[in-house]
Amino acid sequence: MKAGIHPNYKKITVTCACGNQFETGSVKDEVRVETCSECHPFYTGRQKFAEAGGRVDRFNKKYGLKGQQQ
Ligand SMILES: [Zn+2]
Repeated sequence: MKAGIHPNYKKITVTCACGNQFETGSVKDEVRVETCSECHPFYTGRQKFAEAGGRVDRFNKKYGLKGQQQ
């Protein structure tokens, strides 16, 4: 292998929009993400999803369903 033609895969710190940081491997110097396992709705019981503008309520009304939280 010639030196210098392969990306330098290294350990970096990923910074999430929620402030959480974790290490991963990448060829980039730093990575910023909007969701991580600490704040993604899938991992937090979908709390943020339910709070985000009442999309679920509108969906339920549109299709004639009653909200499960009532
Ligand atoms: Zn996060």
